[in-house]
Amino acid sequence: MGAADQGSAMQADCPFCQIISGDEPARTVATWDDAMAFFPRTPATLGHTLLVPRRHVPDIWSMTRPEAARLGELALEVAESLRDTLRPDGLNVIQSNGAAATQTVPHLHVHLVPRWADDRMGGIWPPPGEWPPEDLDDALARVRRSPPGAGPRSSTP
Ligand SMILES: [Zn+2]
Repeated sequence: MGAADQGSAMQADCPFCQIISGDEPARTVATWDDAMAFFPRTPATLGHTLLVPRRHVPDIWSMTRPEAARLGELALEVAESLRDTLRPDGLNVIQSNGAAATQTVPHLHVHLVPRWADDRMGGIWPPPGEWPPEDLDDALARVRRSPPGAGPRSSTP
């Protein structure tokens, strides 16, 4: 047993695993063999939908490449459905990892949030910040040392 087993099964204390197993009710939008979409208990806007893989995957870094591709495909399908049925003015796709990023349920989920010009959600970005150019250059140099596609270098063993 180790970190690799972490995502392999339902976690009894996970609220999303409880919804997926049917132990807890939810307003279900759609189900698939490998994923489920439902309204959260306290939606941010009308039609706010959560898309979750059935497997208890804690965060984006714990997904396999095929799981990530599949989740992206399903996010598009949910977004299309919300657009065609609720006719929002826009849509946010929000996916948060870690407490610092406001993730509160440790089961990977994608928020699809239909938006209207006068909805209660408001802006999702802070006021513009000023960054010293040397900080940006340093951050860029660090990212380029392990660019997208290079594969995992640290974190999970
Ligand atoms: Zn779970």
